[in-house]
Amino acid sequence: MTETIGNALIRGQSLGLDRVDVQILLCTALQKPRTYLLAWPERMLTEPQKQLYQGWLARRLRGEPIAYIVGEREFWSLPLKTNASTLIPRPDTEILVETVLAHFGPAPTVCLDLGTGTGAIALALKSERPGWLISGIDRQPHAVELAQENAVTLGLTVEFRVGDWCADVAPGSVDLLVSNPPYIDADDPHLRLGDVRFEPAGALVAERGGLSEFEKIVEQASVCLTLGGALFFEHGWQQAAPVRAMLAVGGFSRVETVTDYGGNERVSLGYLEHQ
Ligand code: GLN
Repeated sequence: MTETIGNALIRGQSLGLDRVDVQILLCTALQKPRTYLLAWPERMLTEPQKQLYQGWLARRLRGEPIAYIVGEREFWSLPLKTNASTLIPRPDTEILVETVLAHFGPAPTVCLDLGTGTGAIALALKSERPGWLISGIDRQPHAVELAQENAVTLGLTVEFRVGDWCADVAPGSVDLLVSNPPYIDADDPHLRLGDVRFEPAGALVAERGGLSEFEKIVEQASVCLTLGGALFFEHGWQQAAPVRAMLAVGGFSRVETVTDYGGNERVSLGYLEHQ
């Protein structure tokens, strides 16, 4: 037996699910905007829609992230396909994009996004700086495929490829490196809560208290950056001081940290002014 939109919403919430989550699942199952649910509560779901919604409610009840269930998450106003091969783009990461844009104008710039995942950072930058030559690297072939799909869907020309950070990038060939690498300590209790449990550990967890990948990238960056080039990192809220120290020791100058809207130190950067 089928049911109305209004009933389907009430049923979802009565299972203990969040109201907005339930609305997103139902409007995605119906392929309608969220406002449709409120405008047409008495319309009936078709049997296939009901089946789909039913399956999604069950997945959400098991804790699976909405972004994996519906296969999409918005970042920088760009709808990005998401799946379990990559991290779900976070609003926090928009600070990294904003900071890069505040430092680098529209002049042609060779930019590399390391650990690109869905391609979120690279694609957001391309949408704002069409004259830049932007590539994204990830060590996971499935992530690279997903990022390529996102680039095609959005009509943005960004090259995505598999790589080990920037180890195989030609020396002195990049003006700007950006990265949101894995930076969570394996013992962080945050890893056992909520959506994070379903995300690939390889995209989240790093050794040495979460700092190991910053270290590797700083070392490689000083080789592949041009003179005057810059490196921008997203990092955890308690990692700014060690990341700044790594940048300074790695030969970077004008090192600084930017806080996010929650008041946490979130992005650190430096320029390579001499080699
Ligand atoms: N900010 C993310 C989180 O706290 C982690 C992102 C990352 O490791 N790069 O879940």
